[in-house]
Amino acid sequence: MSDQMSDQPQDNPFWSPAVAQLQPYVPGEQPKTTARLIKLNTNESPYPPSPKAQAVLQQEGLAAHLRLYPDPESAELCATIAAEFGLQPDQVFVGNGSDEVLAHAFYSFFKRPEPLLFPDITYSFYPVYCQFFEIEARKLPLRDDFSIAVEDYAVENAGGVILPNPNAPTGRYLPLAEIEQLLQLHPQRVVVIDEAYIDFGGESAATLIDRYPNLLVIHTLSKSHALAGLRLGYAMGQAHLIEGLNRAKNSFNSYPIDGIAQKVATAAIADRAWLVDNCAKVIATRERTCAALTEMGFDIVPSKANFIFAKPPKISAEALFVALRERNIIVRYFNKPRISEYLRISIGTDEEMDALVEACREVL
Ligand code: PMP
Repeated sequence: MSDQMSDQPQDNPFWSPAVAQLQPYVPGEQPKTTARLIKLNTNESPYPPSPKAQAVLQQEGLAAHLRLYPDPESAELCATIAAEFGLQPDQVFVGNGSDEVLAHAFYSFFKRPEPLLFPDITYSFYPVYCQFFEIEARKLPLRDDFSIAVEDYAVENAGGVILPNPNAPTGRYLPLAEIEQLLQLHPQRVVVIDEAYIDFGGESAATLIDRYPNLLVIHTLSKSHALAGLRLGYAMGQAHLIEGLNRAKNSFNSYPIDGIAQKVATAAIADRAWLVDNCAKVIATRERTCAALTEMGFDIVPSKANFIFAKPPKISAEALFVALRERNIIVRYFNKPRISEYLRISIGTDEEMDALVEACREVL
């Protein structure tokens, strides 16, 4: 499945004009059964989550507890996250997946009618939120090597800045010194750093929070914590930004995190040793895979994520995508300008990546 959004405005007599015009985000394929599939298309963890997180689900009385509404403030979870990052609990906000946290950030911080700045090649949900919240998008081109040209962000009257670090789907990492330049370019605007993939080799901008009142850092438990199915993301920033997010959240859904998710996420965040070990395994497999594919002639963008962005030799990315699918290996193909010759390949287990490398060898 390619990453095309529905192209034409749809219509229905019962829909509002706003809904008729939306071009929704299209998530990567989630096959009903993965029994015979090697699934390398949505950057999930190939390993199960921390045993401490799993143990929570075995606790007695867990289901009976669902009678009650959960803590609307997820206080214990926020305190645990704060402790991990040397922050105060009022510097943390949690949401139902980082997509929900991003949505609240778009609504709460990005000024209108000024344009929101982000890279031309980036997480494809950003333009969707722009349309949803009626924010003008100003896409700034990445350099030819897919690095971010920070100097281009010196745009007057910007409404805000957002970028993933490492970027998606390229995997390229922007050093903290350049994040600081962005923060200094727009001291009166919120700069959101979406660190969905930061644990796979980057350094988090969370250490800058006390110095920059305009910085919001967003994390997810979907990748490095192996909890994509739990739906848990969080934002970290100075208390005045977190208060803004809470105002939005409490005007939309006061109980976004169910009680079980709060407990599982708290146990997962507290298990730092498991996280470090899990990421080290994924990083080692990434480096092995890059070496094997590079030797075969693939052009690979340097990655600090749990995926690689790779251009195959000899055949088109689309043809390789189809050939891999026929061999029960799913990767992600984006039929979009500048990146249609690349495949985004999530890092699986060593065995899964060996099978991918072997399949590529066969096809090429
Ligand atoms: N940000 C980026 C850059 C992503 O790639 C993703 C995953 N699609 C997300 C945020 C959202 O992750 P989740 O909602 O699972 O936390």
